[in-house]
Amino acid sequence: MADIQRRKTVTASIGGVRMGSDAPVVVQSMTNTDTADVPSTVEQVTALARAGSELVRVTVNNEEAAAAVPAIVDELDKQGMNVPLIGDFHYNGHILLTKYPGCAERLAKYRINPGNVSVGRKDDTNFRTMIEVAVKHQKPVRIGVNWGSLDQALLTRMMDENSRLAEPKDAREVTMEAMVISALNSAALAEKYGLGSEQIILSAKVSGVQDLIDVYRSLAARSNYPLHLGLTEAGMGAKGVVASSVALGVLLQEGIGDTIRVSLTPAPGGDRTEEVRVAQQILQSLAIRSFTPQVTACPGCGRTTSTFFQQMAEQIQSYLRQQMPVWNRRYTGVEEMKVAVMGCVVNGPGESKHANLGISLPGTFEEPKAPVYVDGRLLMTLRGDRIVSEFIKILEEYVDSHYAAKVELTAK
Ligand code: SF4
Repeated sequence: MADIQRRKTVTASIGGVRMGSDAPVVVQSMTNTDTADVPSTVEQVTALARAGSELVRVTVNNEEAAAAVPAIVDELDKQGMNVPLIGDFHYNGHILLTKYPGCAERLAKYRINPGNVSVGRKDDTNFRTMIEVAVKHQKPVRIGVNWGSLDQALLTRMMDENSRLAEPKDAREVTMEAMVISALNSAALAEKYGLGSEQIILSAKVSGVQDLIDVYRSLAARSNYPLHLGLTEAGMGAKGVVASSVALGVLLQEGIGDTIRVSLTPAPGGDRTEEVRVAQQILQSLAIRSFTPQVTACPGCGRTTSTFFQQMAEQIQSYLRQQMPVWNRRYTGVEEMKVAVMGCVVNGPGESKHANLGISLPGTFEEPKAPVYVDGRLLMTLRGDRIVSEFIKILEEYVDSHYAAKVELTAK
């Protein structure tokens, strides 16, 4: 694992999941089902949790959603899926959390957006009510600032003050500072209303990469609450993945960030669990956590013109992903395994030697053979049309012989 000095924070516990300081950086996600639709929401929470989401957030936007929360948690419990559920509240959270105590009780954490629950106005009763419910039920709260719904009273005041300065800052700088101030002031207010500092997590999400980095560096320097990182409205496809990766990558490398969410827009009918895999991949690429064996594959070039090489890389990657839940139950450490699938002799043997297992396929004008390396040594050379299945068999034998079996706990 990378030697990254994590920022010191207080440590929170979200339904048993530790967050902050020396705890692993937690992967979380959010559903996009109608929360009131219990079967669909349970199905998606389950899919996200199975993909590796350690916390799952659901919107609690109306009475039907609040009323559905206990049934969702009951059904998840029945299925043995004990992933902590977070409720996302805006505007009417004070009403929903008091009118539906079952919802308040069964959620593991509340997300409160100070920009739309009265913080900064003369009367902060709504915010106070939500914090008091959290105190009563001993629930942690994320103070989640978002620049799309930033406290307008605070922003206007800071813009006015800035305009009176001899050398005013630019509007972007003031807005970023307002994000930080909104988060810090709301956290101070939450503590004033009885919430412990170890029950507060902060976030201040923006959609620009450089803005996000600036805001979080500032938040990290000025508080010791755990920080939830995420680029809001990251977007679709490669844009969303790349923007989230670079923004979160810079911050995580600096030791900033205790939990992450990647806010991808799925294609219509697309797979919601993609955001979990991307979040895991960000952490694994930085060597912060390991989740699944990594495949090193060359991009291919004119030296390997057949599609066989691409198909093989894809088949091995899919196989590793499918097997991981099974291996996870049986073995310890297999998620750190590295597998190389290379297209030709130029870099194939060299890269294969750096992996736990590597295979180098024959390039276009090379002899039709595929040397297999195990822990840096040539094990054998595969030939013929069963190369993939034979390599997977070697892979299985390697896992079985190199990773410690987990001890089965039997009931007495
Ligand atoms: S390893 Fe061979 S096939 Fe792959 S990119 Fe390099 S030269 Fe091309």
